[in-house]
Amino acid sequence: MASGQGAGSPDEPVGAQDTPGSPSGLTCPQCGGVMWQQSDEDFSCRVGHRLSFEELMIQQYTSLQNALWLAVRSLEERAAIQRHLSTRHKHLGRAELASVVGRQAEAATHAADLIRDVLTSVAEESDQEA
Ligand SMILES: [Zn+2]
Repeated sequence: MASGQGAGSPDEPVGAQDTPGSPSGLTCPQCGGVMWQQSDEDFSCRVGHRLSFEELMIQQYTSLQNALWLAVRSLEERAAIQRHLSTRHKHLGRAELASVVGRQAEAATHAADLIRDVLTSVAEESDQEA
């Protein structure tokens, strides 16, 4: 067994010996690992991604935007599938089912529009600050 790696006292948290600071409660935007705070301005994860507070803020925001755009795309795809299904139900004489699925498509489109509006307005605010 290698010495100096994870060999602290029994009272110490597991892995506390080989961490680069104190746990911050934030996740690394690059690998998803715990970010350890080394100083007021510097963070690092276990695998060695090092970020300043500002870089962490920017990358975290980029990850959030990507997740929200993924949600917009998924909702729009869902709406497209449901509209197609609604039309098929209508052609097969299933008016009630067509109506239900049509309303679900509208709800998905509405949710996508709400998220898109948030993303667009935040981007416009950022442009005005710059
Ligand atoms: Zn990382």
